[in-house]
Amino acid sequence: MSIEPNFLHELVGSMSQGAAGNPTVAMIEAAFAHHGLHWRYVNMEVAPEHLGEAVCGARAMGFRGFNCSLPHKVTVIKHLDGLGQSAEVMGAVNCVVRRGDKLIGENTDGKGFLRSLAAATDPRGKSVVLFGAGGAARAIAVELGLAGAKQFTVVNRSEQRGAELVELLRDKLRLTARLVVQQGDYSIPPETDVVINATSIGLYDGEVRIALDTATLKPTMVVADVIGNPPRTRLIRDAEARGCRALDGLGMLVNQGVIGVQYWTGIEPDAQVMRAALERALRL
Ligand code: NDP
Repeated sequence: MSIEPNFLHELVGSMSQGAAGNPTVAMIEAAFAHHGLHWRYVNMEVAPEHLGEAVCGARAMGFRGFNCSLPHKVTVIKHLDGLGQSAEVMGAVNCVVRRGDKLIGENTDGKGFLRSLAAATDPRGKSVVLFGAGGAARAIAVELGLAGAKQFTVVNRSEQRGAELVELLRDKLRLTARLVVQQGDYSIPPETDVVINATSIGLYDGEVRIALDTATLKPTMVVADVIGNPPRTRLIRDAEARGCRALDGLGMLVNQGVIGVQYWTGIEPDAQVMRAALERALRL
């Protein structure tokens, strides 16, 4: 797509590395087109050593904001004017919003997850088993904690990363959190309300399984996966077979896009239009 000359567009960007063909572009631009906004979402490949200059450029050119993905989620913070609450707790930003003359860093990954979860259950007072302790797990756990989830069991392969997340939940959010270092299949405690795969297991492989004893899943549990491609992961299929409500990672990805568009434009975009565009771009 080209930007028509002689026509004033509002611009939003995406700063990443190796993001050619990023399906997010199709999803966000579908929202702009559907709502008749003369806005463009532009993908920009930014090397880590040029991030500061890129942010200055976006500021100078009046961008309304931008997404940033790895490896910029933490290092972008020093170039911004402030942070939203959850981004501050997580120490990571994936969405920058121009508010007045300030660039404010937000994190929409966990918020997107929360919005998907809200269709199935209210997180307040809930007990959560979370597989993974990387960026996605951190974003989800912090947002769930801020929304009132009470108890967290973090199941992770590496002890150090798992311990860091548990410490963050305890120290910064005063939550009850414990770490289980992954060894064999984990049995989900029967009192668990929400089970989440926030590892990268399942990305591009719909058959691979996470180390979970599926016989311990109960129909009262909501099971969510962060993996959006393919959306029907092994976990999603196993959870449905056990009678659980299952939430795929595509919903989270669409909802983080919805929240980004809301932040930048002030409108509530049509999530169905955005999901359809994303599915087309991913050839699902
Ligand atoms: P990170 O690299 O930060 O974390 C990866 C996590 O997966 C770690 O906990 C890691 O464990 C664990 N892991 C990876 N491979 C294995 C394995 N073979 N066995 C056990 N554990 C494993 O990645 P992110 O948190 O940024 O992303 C995780 C996934 O979430 C990605 O697939 C990404 O696509 C998806 N995602 C989806 C979003 C959405 O909107 N749907 C948004 C953001 C991310 P360890 O600590 O031991 O290395």
